[in-house]
Amino acid sequence: MSKQDYYELLGVSRNASADEIKKAYRKLAVKYHPDKNPGDKNAEEKFKQISEAYEVLKDDKKKAMYDQYGHAAFEGGAGGGGGGSYQGGGFQDPFDLFREVFGGGNGGGGIFESFFGGGSSYEHDQTGADLSYRLSITLEEAFSGVEKTIAYRRNAPCSRCRGSGCEPGTKPKTCPTCRGRGQVVTQQGFFSMSRPCPHCGGTGRVIETPCSKCRGNGTEAERTQVKVKVPAGINDGAKLRFHGYGEAGQGGAGDLYIIISVEEHPIFRRNGNDLLTHQALPFTLAALGGEIQISTLTGEANLKIPAGTQPGTLFKLRGYGMPQLRGSSKGDLLVEVSIEVPKKLTRSQREALEAFSDALGESGDMPKKRVKKN
Ligand SMILES: [Zn+2]
Ligand SMILES: [Zn+2]
Repeated sequence: MSKQDYYELLGVSRNASADEIKKAYRKLAVKYHPDKNPGDKNAEEKFKQISEAYEVLKDDKKKAMYDQYGHAAFEGGAGGGGGGSYQGGGFQDPFDLFREVFGGGNGGGGIFESFFGGGSSYEHDQTGADLSYRLSITLEEAFSGVEKTIAYRRNAPCSRCRGSGCEPGTKPKTCPTCRGRGQVVTQQGFFSMSRPCPHCGGTGRVIETPCSKCRGNGTEAERTQVKVKVPAGINDGAKLRFHGYGEAGQGGAGDLYIIISVEEHPIFRRNGNDLLTHQALPFTLAALGGEIQISTLTGEANLKIPAGTQPGTLFKLRGYGMPQLRGSSKGDLLVEVSIEVPKKLTRSQREALEAFSDALGESGDMPKKRVKKN
Protein backbone atom coordinates (compact mmCIF):
# COMPACT_ATOMS: atom_id res chain seq x y z
CA MET A 1 0.00 0.00 0.00
CA SER A 2 1.51 3.32 -0.95
CA LYS A 3 1.38 6.23 1.42
CA GLN A 4 -1.00 9.04 0.76
CA ASP A 5 0.42 12.36 -0.33
CA TYR A 6 0.87 14.73 2.60
CA TYR A 7 -0.73 17.67 0.83
CA GLU A 8 -3.63 15.52 -0.19
CA LEU A 9 -4.04 14.27 3.37
CA LEU A 10 -4.39 17.79 4.65
CA GLY A 11 -6.47 18.85 1.68
CA VAL A 12 -4.17 21.73 0.73
CA SER A 13 -2.40 22.61 -2.51
CA ARG A 14 1.34 22.30 -3.04
CA ASN A 15 1.76 26.03 -2.79
CA ALA A 16 -0.39 26.47 0.30
CA SER A 17 0.96 28.95 2.84
CA ALA A 18 2.14 27.90 6.28
CA ASP A 19 -1.03 29.43 7.64
CA GLU A 20 -3.26 27.43 5.35
CA ILE A 21 -1.42 24.24 6.24
CA LYS A 22 -1.83 24.93 9.92
CA LYS A 23 -5.50 25.70 9.53
CA ALA A 24 -6.09 22.51 7.60
CA TYR A 25 -4.28 20.51 10.24
CA ARG A 26 -6.25 22.09 13.08
CA LYS A 27 -9.54 21.34 11.45
CA LEU A 28 -8.74 17.73 10.61
CA ALA A 29 -6.98 16.97 13.89
CA VAL A 30 -10.05 18.04 15.80
CA LYS A 31 -12.29 16.02 13.53
CA TYR A 32 -10.29 12.80 13.84
CA HIS A 33 -9.02 13.13 17.39
CA PRO A 34 -9.56 9.80 19.20
CA ASP A 35 -11.26 11.62 22.06
CA LYS A 36 -13.99 12.56 19.64
CA ASN A 37 -14.11 9.16 17.97
CA PRO A 38 -13.82 6.65 20.78
CA GLY A 39 -13.05 3.17 19.51
CA ASP A 40 -12.88 4.23 15.87
CA LYS A 41 -9.66 2.71 14.51
CA ASN A 42 -9.97 4.43 11.15
CA ALA A 43 -10.23 7.84 12.75
CA GLU A 44 -7.22 7.08 14.91
CA GLU A 45 -5.16 6.04 11.90
CA LYS A 46 -6.23 9.15 10.07
CA PHE A 47 -5.31 11.27 13.08
CA LYS A 48 -1.80 9.80 13.01
CA GLN A 49 -1.42 10.35 9.28
CA ILE A 50 -2.57 13.96 9.52
CA SER A 51 -0.15 14.54 12.34
CA GLU A 52 2.72 13.10 10.34
CA ALA A 53 1.81 15.18 7.32
CA TYR A 54 1.64 18.35 9.33
CA GLU A 55 4.89 17.64 11.14
CA VAL A 56 6.66 17.51 7.78
CA LEU A 57 4.87 20.35 6.05
CA LYS A 58 5.15 22.84 8.90
CA ASP A 59 8.92 22.54 8.89
CA ASP A 60 10.58 24.37 5.98
CA LYS A 61 13.51 21.97 5.83
CA LYS A 62 11.46 18.81 5.96
CA LYS A 63 8.92 20.27 3.57
CA ALA A 64 11.65 21.00 1.02
CA MET A 65 12.94 17.44 1.35
CA TYR A 66 9.48 16.05 0.94
CA ASP A 67 8.84 18.21 -2.10
CA GLN A 68 12.01 16.86 -3.67
CA TYR A 69 12.03 13.20 -2.65
CA GLY A 70 8.50 12.45 -1.46
CA HIS A 71 8.02 9.91 1.32
CA ALA A 72 11.41 8.38 0.50
CA ALA A 73 13.00 11.38 2.21
CA PHE A 74 11.94 10.03 5.58
CA GLU A 75 12.51 6.33 5.11
CA GLY A 76 15.91 5.83 6.63
CA GLY A 77 18.72 5.28 4.11
CA ALA A 78 16.40 5.25 1.15
CA GLY A 79 16.47 9.01 0.82
CA GLY A 80 17.09 9.79 -2.83
CA GLY A 81 20.71 10.45 -3.65
CA GLY A 82 22.30 9.95 -0.24
CA GLY A 83 23.15 12.65 2.22
CA GLY A 84 19.77 14.10 1.66
CA SER A 85 17.67 11.82 3.79
CA TYR A 86 16.09 12.91 6.97
CA GLN A 87 17.62 11.06 9.90
CA GLY A 88 15.30 12.20 12.57
CA GLY A 89 14.23 8.67 13.39
CA GLY A 90 10.48 8.56 13.26
CA PHE A 91 7.82 11.12 13.86
CA GLN A 92 6.61 13.01 16.84
CA ASP A 93 3.86 11.61 19.02
CA PRO A 94 0.63 12.82 17.40
CA PHE A 95 -0.86 13.79 20.77
CA ASP A 96 2.17 15.89 21.67
CA LEU A 97 1.91 17.68 18.38
CA PHE A 98 -1.77 18.25 18.94
CA ARG A 99 -1.11 19.77 22.34
CA GLU A 100 1.61 21.95 20.88
CA VAL A 101 -0.70 23.35 18.26
CA PHE A 102 -3.71 23.80 20.50
CA GLY A 103 -1.76 24.78 23.58
CA GLY A 104 -3.80 22.51 25.79
CA GLY A 105 -2.89 22.15 29.46
CA ASN A 106 -1.27 18.99 30.71
CA GLY A 107 -3.70 18.36 33.54
CA GLY A 108 -6.08 15.47 33.63
CA GLY A 109 -9.01 17.56 32.53
CA GLY A 110 -8.71 16.68 28.88
CA ILE A 111 -6.96 18.62 26.19
CA PHE A 112 -10.14 19.72 24.53
CA GLU A 113 -11.05 22.07 27.29
CA SER A 114 -8.61 24.73 26.24
CA PHE A 115 -10.43 25.42 23.03
CA PHE A 116 -13.83 23.85 23.24
CA GLY A 117 -16.26 26.57 24.03
CA GLY A 118 -14.63 29.08 21.74
CA GLY A 119 -15.33 27.22 18.58
CA SER A 120 -13.43 29.72 16.48
CA SER A 121 -11.41 27.09 14.67
CA TYR A 122 -14.45 25.55 13.09
CA GLU A 123 -15.27 27.98 10.31
CA HIS A 124 -16.00 25.39 7.64
CA ASP A 125 -16.72 22.45 9.81
CA GLN A 126 -19.90 20.62 9.05
CA THR A 127 -20.89 19.86 12.61
CA GLY A 128 -20.94 22.47 15.32
CA ALA A 129 -18.23 22.80 17.93
CA ASP A 130 -18.18 20.69 21.04
CA LEU A 131 -18.61 22.43 24.36
CA SER A 132 -17.31 21.48 27.73
CA TYR A 133 -18.57 22.26 31.18
CA ARG A 134 -16.91 21.47 34.49
CA LEU A 135 -19.30 20.16 37.12
CA SER A 136 -18.19 20.12 40.74
CA ILE A 137 -19.76 17.56 43.06
CA THR A 138 -19.05 16.50 46.63
CA LEU A 139 -17.60 13.14 47.57
CA GLU A 140 -20.98 12.26 49.10
CA GLU A 141 -22.64 12.98 45.76
CA ALA A 142 -20.04 10.86 44.00
CA PHE A 143 -20.89 8.11 46.48
CA SER A 144 -24.63 8.12 45.99
CA GLY A 145 -24.88 9.47 42.46
CA VAL A 146 -26.69 12.74 41.81
CA GLU A 147 -28.82 14.52 39.28
CA LYS A 148 -28.02 18.12 38.40
CA THR A 149 -29.38 20.57 35.91
CA ILE A 150 -26.83 22.65 34.07
CA ALA A 151 -27.76 25.87 32.33
CA TYR A 152 -25.47 27.13 29.60
CA ARG A 153 -25.38 29.19 26.43
CA ARG A 154 -24.83 27.77 23.01
CA ASN A 155 -25.49 28.45 19.39
CA ALA A 156 -28.68 26.59 18.57
CA PRO A 157 -30.12 25.97 15.13
CA CYS A 158 -31.80 29.17 13.93
CA SER A 159 -35.50 29.08 14.70
CA ARG A 160 -36.43 30.82 11.44
CA CYS A 161 -34.58 28.63 8.97
CA ARG A 162 -34.16 25.57 11.23
CA GLY A 163 -30.46 25.71 10.75
CA SER A 164 -30.37 25.60 6.97
CA GLY A 165 -29.26 29.21 6.67
CA CYS A 166 -31.70 29.75 3.79
CA GLU A 167 -34.60 32.15 3.91
CA PRO A 168 -37.74 29.99 4.37
CA GLY A 169 -39.12 29.01 0.97
CA THR A 170 -35.71 28.99 -0.70
CA LYS A 171 -33.18 26.23 -1.05
CA PRO A 172 -29.41 26.17 -1.23
CA LYS A 173 -28.02 25.82 -4.73
CA THR A 174 -25.45 23.32 -5.83
CA CYS A 175 -22.08 25.05 -5.83
CA PRO A 176 -21.16 25.93 -9.41
CA THR A 177 -17.41 25.83 -8.73
CA CYS A 178 -17.19 22.24 -7.48
CA ARG A 179 -20.56 21.05 -8.84
CA GLY A 180 -21.58 19.92 -5.39
CA ARG A 181 -18.58 17.74 -4.67
CA GLY A 182 -17.09 20.11 -2.12
CA GLN A 183 -13.60 19.45 -3.48
CA VAL A 184 -11.66 20.93 -6.31
CA VAL A 185 -8.88 19.08 -8.08
CA THR A 186 -5.76 20.74 -9.38
CA GLN A 187 -3.12 19.15 -11.57
CA GLN A 188 0.57 19.78 -10.95
CA GLY A 189 3.08 17.63 -12.78
CA PHE A 190 2.04 14.05 -12.08
CA PHE A 191 0.18 15.04 -8.97
CA SER A 192 -3.49 15.65 -8.91
CA MET A 193 -4.51 17.25 -5.69
CA SER A 194 -7.90 17.80 -4.26
CA ARG A 195 -8.70 20.42 -1.68
CA PRO A 196 -11.86 21.87 -0.18
CA CYS A 197 -13.71 24.07 -2.62
CA PRO A 198 -12.89 27.72 -1.89
CA HIS A 199 -16.28 28.90 -3.08
CA CYS A 200 -18.55 26.81 -0.83
CA GLY A 201 -16.03 25.95 1.87
CA GLY A 202 -16.37 22.23 1.15
CA THR A 203 -20.10 21.93 1.70
CA GLY A 204 -20.95 21.62 -2.01
CA ARG A 205 -23.80 24.09 -1.65
CA VAL A 206 -24.18 27.84 -1.73
CA ILE A 207 -26.94 29.88 -0.18
CA GLU A 208 -28.31 32.54 -2.51
CA THR A 209 -30.99 33.96 -0.22
CA PRO A 210 -29.66 33.89 3.30
CA CYS A 211 -32.07 33.68 6.22
CA SER A 212 -32.91 37.16 7.45
CA LYS A 213 -32.61 36.19 11.09
CA CYS A 214 -29.24 34.41 11.19
CA ARG A 215 -27.81 35.89 7.98
CA GLY A 216 -27.17 32.47 6.60
CA ASN A 217 -25.06 30.92 9.27
CA GLY A 218 -27.97 28.83 10.54
CA THR A 219 -27.52 29.44 14.23
CA GLU A 220 -28.72 31.74 16.98
CA ALA A 221 -27.59 32.09 20.57
CA GLU A 222 -29.77 30.34 23.08
CA ARG A 223 -29.82 29.66 26.79
CA THR A 224 -30.47 26.05 27.37
CA GLN A 225 -30.15 23.43 30.03
CA VAL A 226 -29.36 19.80 30.32
CA LYS A 227 -30.14 17.33 33.06
CA VAL A 228 -27.04 15.44 34.09
CA LYS A 229 -27.36 12.09 35.81
CA VAL A 230 -24.07 11.50 37.56
CA PRO A 231 -23.71 7.79 38.30
CA ALA A 232 -22.67 6.57 41.76
CA GLY A 233 -18.96 5.86 42.03
CA ILE A 234 -17.90 8.41 39.42
CA ASN A 235 -14.27 9.46 39.43
CA ASP A 236 -12.75 12.89 39.47
CA GLY A 237 -12.02 13.95 35.89
CA ALA A 238 -14.59 11.63 34.32
CA LYS A 239 -16.25 12.93 31.17
CA LEU A 240 -19.92 12.53 30.36
CA ARG A 241 -20.85 13.10 26.75
CA PHE A 242 -24.15 14.58 25.61
CA HIS A 243 -24.52 13.96 21.96
CA GLY A 244 -25.88 16.93 20.04
CA TYR A 245 -25.86 19.38 22.96
CA GLY A 246 -22.90 21.39 21.66
CA GLU A 247 -22.95 24.27 19.21
CA ALA A 248 -25.24 23.93 16.25
CA GLY A 249 -23.72 23.67 12.80
CA GLN A 250 -25.01 23.06 9.31
CA GLY A 251 -24.20 19.36 9.60
CA GLY A 252 -25.71 19.01 13.06
CA ALA A 253 -24.78 20.04 16.56
CA GLY A 254 -21.55 19.14 18.30
CA ASP A 255 -21.41 17.40 21.66
CA LEU A 256 -21.44 18.69 25.19
CA TYR A 257 -18.87 17.22 27.54
CA ILE A 258 -19.50 17.41 31.26
CA ILE A 259 -16.23 17.02 33.12
CA ILE A 260 -16.73 15.87 36.68
CA SER A 261 -14.66 17.40 39.40
CA VAL A 262 -15.04 15.73 42.80
CA GLU A 263 -14.31 18.17 45.60
CA GLU A 264 -11.85 17.31 48.30
CA HIS A 265 -13.41 16.01 51.48
CA PRO A 266 -12.30 17.31 54.90
CA ILE A 267 -12.10 13.82 56.41
CA PHE A 268 -11.87 11.26 53.64
CA ARG A 269 -9.34 10.83 50.90
CA ARG A 270 -10.17 8.64 47.97
CA ASN A 271 -7.92 6.06 46.42
CA GLY A 272 -9.73 4.25 43.64
CA ASN A 273 -12.77 2.79 45.35
CA ASP A 274 -11.17 2.85 48.79
CA LEU A 275 -11.47 5.70 51.26
CA LEU A 276 -8.76 6.64 53.67
CA THR A 277 -9.36 8.43 56.93
CA HIS A 278 -7.40 9.26 60.00
CA GLN A 279 -8.35 8.62 63.61
CA ALA A 280 -6.59 9.72 66.78
CA LEU A 281 -6.83 7.31 69.73
CA PRO A 282 -6.20 8.14 73.41
CA PHE A 283 -2.98 6.37 74.34
CA THR A 284 -4.82 4.46 77.08
CA LEU A 285 -7.30 3.04 74.57
CA ALA A 286 -4.45 2.02 72.26
CA ALA A 287 -2.74 0.28 75.18
CA LEU A 288 -5.79 -1.34 76.73
CA GLY A 289 -7.88 -1.98 73.61
CA GLY A 290 -11.59 -1.31 73.17
CA GLU A 291 -14.16 -0.37 70.59
CA ILE A 292 -14.91 3.03 69.09
CA GLN A 293 -17.46 4.57 66.77
CA ILE A 294 -15.96 5.93 63.62
CA SER A 295 -17.45 8.25 60.98
CA THR A 296 -17.99 6.74 57.57
CA LEU A 297 -18.99 8.72 54.48
CA THR A 298 -22.65 7.94 55.12
CA GLY A 299 -22.87 7.37 58.87
CA GLU A 300 -20.97 5.53 61.53
CA ALA A 301 -19.39 2.14 62.07
CA ASN A 302 -17.81 0.27 64.98
CA LEU A 303 -14.08 -0.27 64.97
CA LYS A 304 -12.40 -2.75 67.33
CA ILE A 305 -9.09 -1.57 68.69
CA PRO A 306 -6.95 -4.44 69.92
CA ALA A 307 -4.85 -3.92 73.05
CA GLY A 308 -1.35 -2.71 72.21
CA THR A 309 -2.28 -0.89 68.99
CA GLN A 310 0.68 1.07 67.63
CA PRO A 311 0.60 4.50 65.95
CA GLY A 312 0.31 4.23 62.17
CA THR A 313 -1.66 0.97 62.29
CA LEU A 314 -4.06 0.70 59.35
CA PHE A 315 -7.47 -0.86 59.99
CA LYS A 316 -9.74 -1.95 57.18
CA LEU A 317 -13.51 -1.66 57.33
CA ARG A 318 -14.70 -3.79 54.45
CA GLY A 319 -17.39 -2.37 52.20
CA TYR A 320 -17.40 1.13 53.66
CA GLY A 321 -15.62 2.65 50.66
CA MET A 322 -16.94 4.04 47.37
CA PRO A 323 -19.29 2.03 45.17
CA GLN A 324 -17.83 0.60 42.03
CA LEU A 325 -18.97 2.59 39.00
CA ARG A 326 -21.80 0.67 37.31
CA GLY A 327 -21.08 -2.30 39.56
CA SER A 328 -22.39 -3.73 42.78
CA SER A 329 -19.27 -4.03 44.93
CA LYS A 330 -17.87 -1.38 47.24
CA GLY A 331 -14.35 -0.43 48.23
CA ASP A 332 -13.07 -0.41 51.80
CA LEU A 333 -12.58 2.26 54.41
CA LEU A 334 -9.00 2.33 55.63
CA VAL A 335 -8.45 3.93 59.03
CA GLU A 336 -4.97 5.01 59.94
CA VAL A 337 -4.61 5.61 63.68
CA SER A 338 -2.41 7.98 65.57
CA ILE A 339 -1.96 8.03 69.34
CA GLU A 340 -2.98 11.04 71.34
CA VAL A 341 -0.98 12.01 74.40
CA PRO A 342 -2.80 14.25 76.91
CA LYS A 343 -1.42 17.77 77.08
CA LYS A 344 -2.60 18.38 80.60
CA LEU A 345 -2.97 15.99 83.51
CA THR A 346 -4.98 16.35 86.67
CA ARG A 347 -3.20 15.52 89.93
CA SER A 348 -4.78 12.08 90.21
CA GLN A 349 -4.04 11.28 86.56
CA ARG A 350 -0.47 12.32 87.07
CA GLU A 351 -0.12 10.13 90.12
CA ALA A 352 -1.64 7.20 88.31
CA LEU A 353 0.80 7.64 85.44
CA GLU A 354 3.75 8.00 87.77
CA ALA A 355 2.74 4.79 89.46
CA PHE A 356 2.50 3.19 86.01
CA SER A 357 5.90 4.53 85.10
CA ASP A 358 7.41 3.09 88.28
CA ALA A 359 5.76 -0.21 87.53
CA LEU A 360 7.44 -0.17 84.10
CA GLY A 361 10.78 0.61 85.73
CA GLU A 362 10.51 -2.34 88.03
CA SER A 363 9.57 -4.75 85.34
CA GLY A 364 12.44 -3.47 83.19
CA ASP A 365 10.17 -2.70 80.19
CA MET A 366 11.29 0.90 79.98
CA PRO A 367 14.38 1.89 78.00
CA LYS A 368 17.43 2.56 80.18
CA LYS A 369 17.41 6.26 79.41
CA ARG A 370 14.81 7.37 81.94
CA VAL A 371 13.39 10.81 81.67
CA LYS A 372 13.88 12.83 84.80
CA LYS A 373 10.65 13.74 86.50
CA ASN A 374 10.15 17.36 87.27
ZN1 LIG B 1 -31.75 31.38 10.04
ZN1 LIG C 1 -17.99 24.36 -4.05
